[in-house]
Amino acid sequence: MNGSMMQQPLLISSLLTHAERHHGEQQVVSRRSEGDIHRYTYREMGARARRLANALAAHGVSFGDRVATLAWNGYRHMELYYAVSGSGAVLHTLNPRLHPDQVVWIADHAQDQVLFFDLSFLPLIEASAGRVNTIKVFVAMTDRAHMPVSAAVPGLLCYEDLVESHAAQFEWPSFDENTASSLCYTSGTTGNPKGALYSHRSTMLHTFAAALPDSLNCSARDVILPVVPMFHVNAWGLPYAACMVGAKLVFPGPFLDGKNLHELFEAEGVTVSAGVPTVWQGLLAHVEANNLKFSTMRRTVIGGSACPPAMMRIFQERYDVAVLHAWGMTEMSPLGTACTLKPRQLALPAQERLAIQAKQGRAVFGVDLKIVGEDGQALAHDGQSAGELLVRGPWIIASYFKGEGGDPLVNGWFPTGDVATIDADGFMQITDRSKDVIKSGGEWIGSIDLENIAMAHPAVAMAACIAARHPKWDERPLLVVVKKPGAQLTREELIAFYEGRIAKWWTPDDVVFVDAIPLGATGKMQKNKLREQFREHCLPTA
Ligand code: AMP
Repeated sequence: MNGSMMQQPLLISSLLTHAERHHGEQQVVSRRSEGDIHRYTYREMGARARRLANALAAHGVSFGDRVATLAWNGYRHMELYYAVSGSGAVLHTLNPRLHPDQVVWIADHAQDQVLFFDLSFLPLIEASAGRVNTIKVFVAMTDRAHMPVSAAVPGLLCYEDLVESHAAQFEWPSFDENTASSLCYTSGTTGNPKGALYSHRSTMLHTFAAALPDSLNCSARDVILPVVPMFHVNAWGLPYAACMVGAKLVFPGPFLDGKNLHELFEAEGVTVSAGVPTVWQGLLAHVEANNLKFSTMRRTVIGGSACPPAMMRIFQERYDVAVLHAWGMTEMSPLGTACTLKPRQLALPAQERLAIQAKQGRAVFGVDLKIVGEDGQALAHDGQSAGELLVRGPWIIASYFKGEGGDPLVNGWFPTGDVATIDADGFMQITDRSKDVIKSGGEWIGSIDLENIAMAHPAVAMAACIAARHPKWDERPLLVVVKKPGAQLTREELIAFYEGRIAKWWTPDDVVFVDAIPLGATGKMQKNKLREQFREHCLPTA
């Protein structure tokens, strides 16, 4: 027997309609590429998104077409999120930090029809416009006064002209909730990038889960500033969750340095932010150097790579900003776990609580986790047994765009490529990417633990731990370190710092100091590049 409830497809346009109707006066504030602050309401955003939907139709965008963006976090990008997906087309967020050749390859692979770009990406557009086969229309996301003149991009359209020249009357169409809504390519550190194609249904279910109190905990009382880019995995779903709950949104545009971010936090009363650890490093350095504080910010979500406990401690103990450690990936829309403590962990002494917070957290409802050994058998949830992490759920990839790479699933589970433990309370901890694990004498050493210890040293700004070749043990840990400006630190001092903090045989064999560690397009350390750089490194043989 079927239930007798309405069959309403879960569609992204409903989030905007809800925000307009029930939170119409709520503000959306953006620092624009043009340099000024733009401020309007969800009501105005809704009207402009509908004008844009009419403009897309007028330029021949039809159901299922890919519409690409190369854009920072801002209100125009937000309008595109809703206008494109809401019309039944597919929003393809391109990552502007990629090399122009990669951008061309991805745009071609996705068969993008139209490309919207922020002014700061004009050079990237000029380097690639003539080479992308499918894009027919280029739109600069600015007004007439700031329109660039570019011989390399003939027929360039102006975003504000498009919006102004079309009516705000538009009925969001209704269609199957399994229709594709947006497309994001993996960073592709090995081989070509692959596309994760999200649907309206997967996005909506992810949004419900992301907003929950033990997930990202979003509400109408929040002022959310997503530092995490809208060009990578939909800014962890915050542009959708904010509309669902009616939160005020603040967008930083291209200005992600500590000074600009802190000014925006203070001026707009930001309560929640989200980003990768490398961004917070810049912010904390600025706040510390200038003796500032956070008057309204109370929580920050940190994910994308492991958050060092030393950073958590500074946020929480010095600035009273709670850190929520979260984990996920492009293939998971991205949210998988969030490290919200339960009463039992909250009652622990501070040091033990911090050790739990360093874990990536508990599965959000909808995500099933398991860890398996090399034989594929499930491992115990004892906080000790480490194995490959597999996931399944309604917002987790079933196959890559165009079936690239074949069937990625193993008996219905998606192998994440991460190595993890899960404890008896369900807290999952990533010990490594499987590619980054250091295999010493047949035993595994997790590089993240070793990096976290180095990051707790006051002279260390950034640390990556990689495997270096060893004649006896095959691989041993090599620490690559960037010192804080002006700080003094020797190899011996840093190695001595590990004493009593970790099993002796895990201690790094060597330390090299470098000026910078290469970061990828999503702000993660590129350990593959470091491994290449230090392929011939000779470890001391003491
Ligand atoms: P991406 O698909 O580019 O978002 O990268 C996903 C990968 O980033 C995951 O598979 C993890 O290896 C890593 N990652 C994401 N969040 C965390 C975290 N909180 N701690 C450690 N690694 C993380």
